[in-house]
Amino acid sequence: MTSETPKAQKATEATETTEARILARLSREADELGRQHAEELQRLDETRGARRALELLGQAGLAAWMVPRVHGGADAGPLCPPETISVRAACVLRQSLAYHSAMLDVMLVMQGLGSLALARSAGPALARQWLGPVARAEACAAFALTEPGAGSSLTDVALRARRHGDAWSLNGHKTFISNAGVADFYSVLARTAEEPRAFSMFCVPANAPGLRTERFEVLGPHPIGDVYFEDVRVPDSSRLGAEGAGLELALAVLARMRTSVAAAANGFARRACDESRRHLSTREQFGKPLSAFQGLSFDVAEMDTRLRAAELLVDEAALVVDRGGEGTLEVARAKLFATENAGWVCDRAVQHFGGLGVKRGSAVEALYRDVRALRIYEGSSEVQKLILAKELFRRST
Ligand SMILES: Cc1cc2nc3c(=O)[nH]c(=O)nc-3n(C[C@H](O)[C@H](O)[C@H](O)COP(=O)(O)OP(=O)(O)OC[C@H]3O[C@@H](n4cnc5c(N)ncnc54)[C@H](O)[C@@H]3O)c2cc1C
Repeated sequence: MTSETPKAQKATEATETTEARILARLSREADELGRQHAEELQRLDETRGARRALELLGQAGLAAWMVPRVHGGADAGPLCPPETISVRAACVLRQSLAYHSAMLDVMLVMQGLGSLALARSAGPALARQWLGPVARAEACAAFALTEPGAGSSLTDVALRARRHGDAWSLNGHKTFISNAGVADFYSVLARTAEEPRAFSMFCVPANAPGLRTERFEVLGPHPIGDVYFEDVRVPDSSRLGAEGAGLELALAVLARMRTSVAAAANGFARRACDESRRHLSTREQFGKPLSAFQGLSFDVAEMDTRLRAAELLVDEAALVVDRGGEGTLEVARAKLFATENAGWVCDRAVQHFGGLGVKRGSAVEALYRDVRALRIYEGSSEVQKLILAKELFRRST
């Protein structure tokens, strides 16, 4: 039952149709891009792969979805206000890109994760300097929170920013920073005083004297490394938002982007499910296709069902956030369930392929590695459970 008048109902239906059309188009475009370029990207080393992926995302106009329209990004129409980016669009893009290429997926999302603090809180000149180029994929963004002593607990961040008149000096060490050595600028969370929550965010250009990066490898194809700050000077105009409000800004960015991690997990898992289905239908053992063995075909039924549940959780969370809600429960549920489920789905797919499942270069072997980190970054599964438990008990008292 709806309490809307017939006229209002028609307007709502028209909006929903427009939204569905935009999202379907984005899904098609991302799918097409991934289909055409996944193999090419696989052949490149991480740095060249990252740059090429970014170039492709720029040419296809998809990077623009990571920047709000008011700052030169894509016109999201009714999906979200022009001052922000649509979580539904980010999710649709990530699910389709992840289906084909982990590199396209990570390079897309880092443009949003690395630049959203600027879109929210940079002064006009700084916003103009970076956000248009990020939307066109001419500048590459990174988001630097984690430190050797501060992972899940960001209140332990120790990188120190000290004020010198109208400038700041930054000293410290960030680690596990996606796009380290590839990015053109870093959105950095720094401590500005000794008090417990005295943090600010700064936009630091990659070529600032005193900034140094060192790369390391993780399981999947992911440009990542350490970023060292030795007396790095930035003007006060590089500060993002009010002094002392940096932690809240960083957490707000994470909250907005987190649902899209779940969507990427679904993209990897959907691919694994499809690979399993194809393989079980064609591979014969004991004189018949493997799909004729109920133990295996039931596996695929369960993979698909769980995956659909994960997709619906993502749809729910993304809609709540796009409509202006916080979505504390919805987002945490989606991230927790989809990323854990993707790990399970990809593990089953490896099993279905037998030896081929662990052979370097096979699709499911890559998927198995691609999904693992999603349960750790942007709030691990345990952190999502902490969020859920806190919110559930708060509501029940
Ligand atoms: C591929 C990849 C890309 C990344 N990209 C970035 C990036 O671009 N920028 C950035 O800033 N960081 C990035 N990170 C870092 C990531 O955000 C951290 O790894 C994550 O926050 C976890 O921190 P940690 O590794 O220090 O683990 P820890 O915080 O030390 O946690 C270790 C384990 O303990 C659990 N744990 C911690 N606290 C609790 C608790 N209170 N209750 C129960 N369990 C708990 C965790 O869930 C985890 O399982 C990336 C990480 C990876 C793997």
